[in-house]
Amino acid sequence: MERRIVAIAGLGLIGGSIGLALRNIRADVPEVVGYSRSRESAQKALDCGAVDRIEASLSAAVRDADLVVLATPILAIKDILSEIAPCLLPGSVVTDVGSTKAAILEWARQHLPGGVYFVGGHPMAGKEKSGIDAAESTLFHGCTYCIVPAADASQPAIDLVAGLARDLGGNPLLISAEAHDYLVAGISHLPYALASALVMTTMENPSWAEMSGLAASGFRDASRLASQHPVMTRDICLTNRDNLVSWIDDFTKELNRFRDLLIRDSDELEERLALVRRLHQEWAQRYEERS
Ligand code: NAD
Repeated sequence: MERRIVAIAGLGLIGGSIGLALRNIRADVPEVVGYSRSRESAQKALDCGAVDRIEASLSAAVRDADLVVLATPILAIKDILSEIAPCLLPGSVVTDVGSTKAAILEWARQHLPGGVYFVGGHPMAGKEKSGIDAAESTLFHGCTYCIVPAADASQPAIDLVAGLARDLGGNPLLISAEAHDYLVAGISHLPYALASALVMTTMENPSWAEMSGLAASGFRDASRLASQHPVMTRDICLTNRDNLVSWIDDFTKELNRFRDLLIRDSDELEERLALVRRLHQEWAQRYEERS
């Protein structure tokens, strides 16, 4: 049997980590071909062993691939799909790792030819650092890996992408684009909006110079996501706008409720804080158990 070829477009944190992880799988290690807009990232990916070879163009990178993984910022995926469409092998499978799914599935429907299958993906793992220097072979170990097939995706294509998720150490979860985008807006994109608001509220305040010397691990943990790459985050927000706005509205109501309890100085504040603590501890325990 011929060796499988996996092409990765975008060799930053996620694309680089996928390449590194594929080198460590036990059986059927594929040949990994890489392309990145940044020549420097592509060369670094080759040097650190995340890819077996690099190509200077997208078309050259994907033309022999059985599986194409798009690991660029989300808005770039639209143009990439249109550019690679004429070069893809019939029967090949295209997946992505973008943090939102409905817009990407729609672009795949518009651009990909019949006989090429699209199965979206989103590993629920990452960090606020970006670029190939931050890539790690173990990044996806134990993570939930969302699998979001296009309406016409074949079962073998879905199995191939679920197999990729397992090869990377993740646990595949089949989910619709609509459910995915609503849920991740709550647990992932809302926290970014909150970290951003926290940073602006404190660091733009005239007392920040004095206050910053007191800030420690609590502030660091609550503001961590503010260091995400702005292009990646902009694309996530723009392609999940309605869901994010709805979660921000819910959050604003909850914050105002907290504010009211504070002003009223009632026993309800302690009850509310006890409920908050219990809910968070229950989730934290379940998270520890599945990590
Ligand atoms: P990154 O900035 O580390 O890497 C992006 C790479 O794409 C870079 O190498 C860049 O040169 C390349 N690139 C940009 N535009 C390109 C183009 N037009 N053609 C080819 N290459 C191009 O970003 P990342 O953190 O690896 O994120 C990549 C994708 O993964 C995003 O869609 C993001 O939503 C998703 N994602 C990120 C995380 C995370 O925690 N960072 C987690 C899950 C999913």
